[in-house]
Amino acid sequence: MKLDVDALRYLSKDDFRVLTAVEMGMRNHEIVPAELVERIAGLRHGGTYKVLRNLLKHKLVHHDSSKYDGFRLTYLGYDFLAIKTLVNRGVFAAVGRQIGVGKESDIFEVATEDGTVLAIKLHRLGRVSFRAVKSKRDYLVHRSNYNWLYLSRLAALKEYAFMKALGEHGFPVPAAVDCNRHSVVMSLVKGYPLECNHCAVFKIKQLQNPDEVFETIIGLVVRLAEHGLIHCDFNEFNLMIDDDEKVTMIDFPQMVSVSHRNAKMYFDRDVECIFKFFSKRFNISYQEDRDEEDEKSAGFLDKELAASGFTKRDQDEIEKFIEGGPEPKDGSSSDDESSGKEQTADEDNETVTTKMVALQLADQQVKSSCRNDEERVEENLDSCNVKVVRENEPTASGEQEDSNDLDNSDDDDDGSGDAELVKHLNKQRKRAVAAARGRRALASRNSYKDKGGKSSHNSKIQKQVSKW
Ligand code: ADP
Ligand code: MG
Repeated sequence: MKLDVDALRYLSKDDFRVLTAVEMGMRNHEIVPAELVERIAGLRHGGTYKVLRNLLKHKLVHHDSSKYDGFRLTYLGYDFLAIKTLVNRGVFAAVGRQIGVGKESDIFEVATEDGTVLAIKLHRLGRVSFRAVKSKRDYLVHRSNYNWLYLSRLAALKEYAFMKALGEHGFPVPAAVDCNRHSVVMSLVKGYPLECNHCAVFKIKQLQNPDEVFETIIGLVVRLAEHGLIHCDFNEFNLMIDDDEKVTMIDFPQMVSVSHRNAKMYFDRDVECIFKFFSKRFNISYQEDRDEEDEKSAGFLDKELAASGFTKRDQDEIEKFIEGGPEPKDGSSSDDESSGKEQTADEDNETVTTKMVALQLADQQVKSSCRNDEERVEENLDSCNVKVVRENEPTASGEQEDSNDLDNSDDDDDGSGDAELVKHLNKQRKRAVAAARGRRALASRNSYKDKGGKSSHNSKIQKQVSKW
């Protein structure tokens, strides 16, 4: 989806006020009645309608008069709200070119005041029809059009929380900088995905040390499991590699705990994806070494995540809609705002800092006035009996109304009675480690004669582990 931020510079305070009013109204309405927008925005002299026309012109809202005269935010409108908040917070000051198109996201470069280039991921749930979503249509039977904005926001919150926690535990992931609404700001990875459907020009065909990269990657999936987590979309599309063949793992909205009911299947699939890719692309075969090893457990990182703002309840909610799945080979679009408009990543992979559009927001100079404005809008909301929750306040209960409609009976995820599962997972971990070790033995064959007795093997593995 094209993100033309030019318009952002010309939007007035009132424009944002009305846009925010539509967003707030959407907490209770799929289509927000025009009068409600007017009441929430509280502009004098009926100015709201004029502003709505302007927002419509810029495709920031969508007009729907099928049942009544109403409006909803478009993804572009949501983008603008998130970007404005982040700019006001001083997280970045300019938006640049698009650098990635995921199955349900768009990734852009952004630059801070001092010129540091970061990446912003804008989640777009609903762009691709998930199999999982389809299979749960009946679940949404009383909601003809589920609020994708809300789900995108949950996905961003989850991604941010996981990225932060993983980074703090030494995993090679982008540094989590901030998040707002459906967006996550993170450090820019100076590399490329091992595989990319949208990078027509670029494809990694050769690696200097495919064995080492393979081992590092398998080591990652194992170490994740040791921390109680399964990536669920661990494949060549979500592993980036730089010129020094350093691996960075991305894309976390579908991660689950090892206590998840489908943990075994997800773990197997993650490992299998890597084996398949490396055997196909780099002609690497492997043998399984069935030596039994004592497995270490590095604690349960998933249990720590609640502290970072992403609650178990959020996890349950999002899992109803997102099931981990391989990236589709051709991300077909189902969202009316983005269909047919997906951008391929810029073909120029060299320059990073060009073409930044500085965001001098019309009302940016008085930062505090933004907050005051939001507060005033919220006051109006109160008087309209609309429950308000600020973005990124995990303890707020704004979504509860939404989710009250939903069947919250998923109770098989509480980690109880999973001794069998944990045992099985341990086996899977062993299998992956063993496979990596077996691979190591093969890879080493030509370079030295050491067939690797258990102890020498162990020390090599040990070294590798410390590298991870
Ligand atoms: P999705 O969840 O939609 O699959 P991803 O997080 O996998 O989205 O990102 C899609 C693409 O965007 C990646 O394949 C990669 O090319 C690019 N990308 C994502 N995050 C970064 C980053 N931090 N730095 C550079 N490129 C990134
Ligand atoms: Mg991805």
